[in-house]
Amino acid sequence: MQEVKVLDKRFRMYIPEDQLQKRIAQMAEEINRDQKGKDVIFIGILNGVFLFAADLFRRINLDARISFLKLASYEGTSSTGKIKELIGWNEDITGKTVIVIEDIVDTGNTLERIVGELALRKAAEVKIATLLFKPEAYRKDVSIDYIGFEIPNDFVVGYGLDYDGYGRNLDSIYTLIQ
Ligand code: 5GP
Repeated sequence: MQEVKVLDKRFRMYIPEDQLQKRIAQMAEEINRDQKGKDVIFIGILNGVFLFAADLFRRINLDARISFLKLASYEGTSSTGKIKELIGWNEDITGKTVIVIEDIVDTGNTLERIVGELALRKAAEVKIATLLFKPEAYRKDVSIDYIGFEIPNDFVVGYGLDYDGYGRNLDSIYTLIQ
């Protein structure tokens, strides 16, 4: 589908499914190569990451675990900057290599908060993997190790990403038609 409607808004095809899957396979290869021999724990940030985390993790051939945290800072189509609750810490990460998996990094507020928590919990090493990155919106210094696609500062949905809870089941990424 070249164009979709989610609630009251129209979106146009931006990154098709085959390109997403091809890039995710490359990211997994890179992680497999870089982290070889390490006991790593992947931490996915819900909700938006669930499809990306599944497709990336199934291609990881390390001795790896995966766990999920939930932290929301976004309402509607513009970032409120408000950080809500962080839930789901149930893994001991002391001395471990942690790979944070994000669907999208926008301002970087969410990422900074999570990296701060991981440091408090004494992770040995923290790497960041995000499917999408908006360089024009990014305001933080945390370096991002694995980036799927750099995108402009526009609102996107699909492949796990939502508009007010809907659109997550689209298999490609779509961008808002202004
Ligand atoms: P940040 O804290 O980096 O500003 O925002 C990160 C979170 O905002 C993401 O995990 C995601 O939930 C949400 N977000 C940022 N940009 C977009 C976007 O274009 N579309 C959607 N659906 N969510 C976004």
